[in-house]
Amino acid sequence: MGTIDGLPPLREVIAAHDLVAKKQLGQNFLLDLNLTAKIARCAGDLTGCDVLEVGPGPGGLTRGLLAEGARRVVAVEMDPRAMPALEQIAAHYPGRLVPLLGDALKLDVAAHLTQPVKVVANLPYNVGTELLIRWLTPASWPPFWDSLTLMFQKEVAERIVAKPGSDHYGRLALLAQWRAEPKIVLHLPPEAFTPAPKVHSAVVHLKRLEEPRYPCNGATLQRITAMAFNQRRKMLRSSLKGLGADVEEKLRAAGIAPTARAEEISLERFCALARLY
Ligand code: SAM
Repeated sequence: MGTIDGLPPLREVIAAHDLVAKKQLGQNFLLDLNLTAKIARCAGDLTGCDVLEVGPGPGGLTRGLLAEGARRVVAVEMDPRAMPALEQIAAHYPGRLVPLLGDALKLDVAAHLTQPVKVVANLPYNVGTELLIRWLTPASWPPFWDSLTLMFQKEVAERIVAKPGSDHYGRLALLAQWRAEPKIVLHLPPEAFTPAPKVHSAVVHLKRLEEPRYPCNGATLQRITAMAFNQRRKMLRSSLKGLGADVEEKLRAAGIAPTARAEEISLERFCALARLY
């Protein structure tokens, strides 16, 4: 049966380039090109956009992005074994794929990208969370990207979209929802990957907001939410004691009961509190 793009099936690519998955690189590959095209569509219309893909591996998602019409894909991969497979895709789509060898946590990719930019990635989960936090906390806003479409372990995806009162609600939800509109757009079972991981996965799409949802200083918001959620079962008047002697007064001024707990407090109230500091 033919593939979506006339290139060889991914199992053949992996065999030809001896791309046996390495656990230490978090390699769980997507081999179904219909599924990778579906993930690419979760990022919305790609025509007229540059896509930054992190961790392309053998290129399943890369091929989905190109087949779905991305203007250009800049793909950062730290495993040199994947480069010949990516070069083969680049030759099939002249001028539309730029494979870069390097660690996405260290490489500065800005020079390779032209606006508008969408980020799409199926990354090892620890790297994904670290990059998400970096992409949400640049030196200035708006950031270089219009949207992020990222694969996470299901529990992490739930932490990103969680609302007050949920066990998953915490700093990641507040940070993501302060500056973006995050949604879970696809659930994937372990069997979707080769080799299958132990956990379920989900794709989260985050559309950036032009301005943060409520005004306040980002560093202050992060400091306050870190204190509040480090002791999430404690009353705020106690977990936020370090903010100063007048913390109860400031909590009340922000519309928060001093006896409330962090997990009950909305983003809007946390921002109101941050504005008082
Ligand atoms: N995108 C491919 C797919 O969907 O089949 C591969 C996904 S696999 C979960 C993660 C990929 O990220 C691997 O190819 C791995 O080598 C790469 N990777 C891991 N850490 C990375 C990093 N810090 N920078 C760039 N790539 C990384």
